[in-house]
Formats: sequence, structure tokens, C-alpha cells
Amino acid sequence: MCRKFDLKKHSPNKCLIFIFNKKFMRRNAIGVLSTLFLWVLSISSMAQIPVYVWQGWDKNTTEQSLKDDFSTWKAHGVTGVCFNTGFDVDKARVAAKIAKSLGLEYHAWMPCMLHAGLPASWYAVNRLGESAHDVQAYVPHYTFLDPHNKEVQAWLIEQYCKMAAIPEVDYVQLDYIRYPDVILARGLWDKYGLVMNEEYPKADYCYCDDCVAAFKAQTGIDIRKVKDPSKCKKWAQFRCDIITDFVNKLAAAVHAQGKKVSADVFPGPRSYATWMVRQEWNKWKIDAFFPMNYNDFYLEKASWVGKVTREEVKSVKGKIPVYSGLFICKDWRNKEKLVDPEYSGLLPSEIDEAVRGSMKAGAAGISLFTPHSMTDEHWEALSETLSKLEKK
Ligand SMILES: [Zn+2]
Repeated sequence: MCRKFDLKKHSPNKCLIFIFNKKFMRRNAIGVLSTLFLWVLSISSMAQIPVYVWQGWDKNTTEQSLKDDFSTWKAHGVTGVCFNTGFDVDKARVAAKIAKSLGLEYHAWMPCMLHAGLPASWYAVNRLGESAHDVQAYVPHYTFLDPHNKEVQAWLIEQYCKMAAIPEVDYVQLDYIRYPDVILARGLWDKYGLVMNEEYPKADYCYCDDCVAAFKAQTGIDIRKVKDPSKCKKWAQFRCDIITDFVNKLAAAVHAQGKKVSADVFPGPRSYATWMVRQEWNKWKIDAFFPMNYNDFYLEKASWVGKVTREEVKSVKGKIPVYSGLFICKDWRNKEKLVDPEYSGLLPSEIDEAVRGSMKAGAAGISLFTPHSMTDEHWEALSETLSKLEKK
């Protein structure tokens, strides 16, 4: 089943011959114009729906394995890869070159605020006064940097710009561009043994001296003296603005290099991202959003994906493409036995509802986490759905 637009059948040259045949035009001007209009319409509605995948370089990755994987995904209709090599420019250069040679768009996917082994003063401090350098919320790898720290900002912008300088990199992609989850997704409460009806002080950042002083200078409020900081709306907004200002600064630097910026964000932004992780991402001046619409993390059904996508598209006024991120269940035959949402995800039978719902809501395409979780049954379901949507 070919999902791609058939260039031979709809050659643009044939169309030009139509237009410049003056005699024909004089006699049939209206007919020709309406045919042309329908032809343009048919092209736009038959265009291939962008499909991305998120994948990273692991210990078994080789140049050959990348060629094999990228080719396989491309054959399944994938149009772009979001590929994580961390800040390793050499590995990214290899992966990006292979992607481009196969005609795939390349997003250099990199964790932003989550890094280990950097100067202790660069890390965020929680409401209890603990630095993420020494003590982490939820999991040991939650070593979050302080996004307000000027040295952190300069270092991160330098890393992203180095990656953007690779000729084959189309976009740099920001992941973990946020504070830690001050409220965890509902589906993760049991896993971490938490009931999160309110903000979790251990995961509430950043209360370092600089952030506290900057907030006081701006608002006159000493947040350390506030009995319940979670009730202080200005404090929440202050931290949303820190992330927004940093993203916009980073994007300006990358744009100056002639490259684009995409970001992996929480759903919403109002219904989840803003209050969970301080991502008010509708204010970010970037080029593409990849919201992680992982329904199982929120104990929601596949039908929720379309609903939340509608909010996302509306939040950026339809001006910036939104690629609906879908979490795929690899061991789908045993999904009922999987209690951890981080191993759960969409069944092949749910692909249609999630993809159709996203596209109907105005998404520009979809992104799959991960292509290695996609079983033959998932690919088949995806291909069927995309064929139908592209024919419409
Ligand atoms: Zn701070």
C-alpha cells in the first residue's frame, strides 16, 4: 500500500502545460481554473502525514544498526527521527548524516535541565533546602539544573549551538526543558508510593539564594517566609517565566545559525504542563512542539489523546506545528498485567483512535515513543490509519 503522493501521476510539468496553452485557456478558462484548484486541493490533502520517532544511541548502536533501523522506519512511513546522543556531537554527526542520506528529517534530541557531574552550584534547590546535586526527588537521575542560573544558561546554549552547527541537523530538540514534576502524573502515584493532592515540597524548585532574591526584587515577597508557597500564584508564574525566557534566548541563538528548535513538552499546556512542571509552552518562540500525550501516564484512554491535542493546537493558535507524541506498549498482549505506566502504552487496536483523534484536532503529525516498541501489528494499524487519512 503506497501512502506517498504519486509524483508521476501528478507531474507539476503537466500542470504548467495546461496553464500556458493560451488557446485552450481562452475557451476553457473557468474549467481549467477549477480543475487546477481541485488539483491543488488534492495534493494538499494527499500529502504524507509527518511521522516522527524518538530513539537514542545505546551501547549496541553502530553505523550499520542506524542504517538498518532508519531504513526500516522509513519503509513504515516515518519521515523524521528525533535522535538522542546527549551532547555528543560526533555521534550526532554520524546519525544525522545517515538520516539525511535516507531523506529523513533530523532532530537532535537532547535533555536540557537534566545533567549529572556539573559544578554543584549549578543545581536547583528544593523547598527543603536540598540541592538536586546531592539529593534527588523520585529517582537518582533527577539531577536538575537551575534554569535561572546564568552560567547554566550560557553552558546549555553553547551545547545546543554546537549541535545546531552540524550541517545535517535540521532541528535541535529540547527535552527536560522544565522543573522537576512538582505534581506527578496520576498514573505514577502508585509506582512512587505517593498521593499528590498538593505540590510535593521535595520536588518543588528552585529556592536557591539567587532565585529567592530575584523573586523578592520583582515582587517584594520573601518566598521562604510564605507559609504555603504553592498558593502563591506569582511564585509559580515567576518560574514559568524563567523557563520561557531561557527557551526564547536559546531559540534566538539557534535561529541565528539558521537552524530550528523543537521541544518535548508535557500535555496541555494549561491542563497539565504549566502546573506540573512550569512549562507555559504556548509562550515559547520555537518551531515545533512534541507534547508527550501519553494517555496511560494520566490513567486516560486513547480517546483522551485527541482531546488534549485540541487544547495544544489551540494554545499556539495553530501557528506552530504540534506533533502528537504517542507512547507505545511493546508487550501489548500482556498489557493488563503491566502495572507500571512506563511500560504500558497504546495497543495496536488503539492506534487508530489516537492518531485519528490527534489529526482531527489539528495536529501536524505524530511522534512514536518508541519505534522499537512498535510491533508488526502496530505498524500495520498505523499504516491503515494513515492511508485513510491521507486519502481524505
Ligand atoms: Zn535557583
